[in-house]
Amino acid sequence: MGLVVQKYGGSSVADAEGIKRVAKRIAATKRAGHEVVVVVSAMGDTTDNLIDLAEQVSPRPPARELDMLLTSGERISMAVLAMAISNLGLEARSFTGSQAGVITDSSHGRARIIDVTPGRIRAALDEGSIAIVAGFQGVSQDTKDITTLGRGGSDTTAVALAAALKADVCEIYTDVDGVYTADPRIVPTARKINRIATEEMLEMAANGAKILMLRCVEYARNYDLPIHVRSSFSPHEGTWVTDAPIPEAFASPRVSQELQQQPVIVGIPHDDKEAKVTVVGVRDDPGIAAVIFKAIAQAEINIDMIVQNVSVGPSGRTDVSFTLPKAEGARAIDALEKVKPAVGFERVEYDDQIGKISLVGVGMRSHPGVSARMFEALAREQINLEMISTSEIRISVVTRADQLEGAVRAVHTAFGLDAKVEAVVYGGSGR
Ligand code: ASP
Ligand code: MG
Repeated sequence: MGLVVQKYGGSSVADAEGIKRVAKRIAATKRAGHEVVVVVSAMGDTTDNLIDLAEQVSPRPPARELDMLLTSGERISMAVLAMAISNLGLEARSFTGSQAGVITDSSHGRARIIDVTPGRIRAALDEGSIAIVAGFQGVSQDTKDITTLGRGGSDTTAVALAAALKADVCEIYTDVDGVYTADPRIVPTARKINRIATEEMLEMAANGAKILMLRCVEYARNYDLPIHVRSSFSPHEGTWVTDAPIPEAFASPRVSQELQQQPVIVGIPHDDKEAKVTVVGVRDDPGIAAVIFKAIAQAEINIDMIVQNVSVGPSGRTDVSFTLPKAEGARAIDALEKVKPAVGFERVEYDDQIGKISLVGVGMRSHPGVSARMFEALAREQINLEMISTSEIRISVVTRADQLEGAVRAVHTAFGLDAKVEAVVYGGSGR
């Protein structure tokens, strides 16, 4: 007997049928003798619909009120799911994030969890109940206002609760059978990964793989908590994200054995939500980059790739390019215009028609030639590389947005990752 935290995403609880299906699965886990904590997302596209609603009444809804509104989506799911479970003859109790002890900072819309005090959850389990927790939300330590953790934040709720409760495993239920070598919506021959190291999963999540939220993987790594990503629509074993041994009570015996050999490339995430900013005609003097990026940092903008070269020729000027989330583009341009007198650049260019494709795998540490093979595959498709950046276990390139999907497929094939069967996507509008 163990303790499992199961998280069900929006597509798994999209309608009454979905909720009943999930309730059966939870009941079966409980009847197998485990303690079960469930974290739920809002039903289907509820969160997007609530955002649309807010924008209809106000072009810039106050962040506090938007959070209050959005958390209602998860609260619907949790109560309805608890009802469905009780209809199966088991006791289930639902809790808001705040009731479950999810304590955050006060940045509305992207709050960070600073503590989890799950006393009421522990008590519910001790009384033999199944605890259902609304994902994606918490309460600010300072202001006591309700906060949300950012899109996809229920994953982080689940992992944080699992860590605080010392669970054996956190199961993340979604609409595909696990983490794939590429997004199966774009590469139908993507392969399910049986096991992935946490540092690889961090790179995948940070570079556009939407299957797990980055912060949730960081949390799991910091607390040595195994994550099992799997489908709520099928009984198949999913993907284990862990560096530690797989907890036997929660895995099929096949999996632990199969994981000895490590492929060079584990996956090819892509990102179509970034834009590129180029600061043209920057003086090539010490301290200039510091001024530019300090302005960006003060606007609380997270940047990704940076490219700069030394100036050639007598002009003494160069261009600095960087990528950032499209949603933060306007703020970045404002911030740069403010430091224009201090930096003395010519102009800022903004390009949101880019895509980023990355290659991830710890195996590339010891295998030369990986970038050459990637660039050759892209060259065969006549795809131009606009930016390149690398880490020890990742290579990323920026392409035109309309070439991104072709790029992912070409590189997937070039590294021999194509499966013989097509991946199944069970649900979700991908919205
Ligand atoms: N419902 C929220 C969203 O759609 C949180 C989540 O699903 O994890 O982003
Ligand atoms: Mg969702």
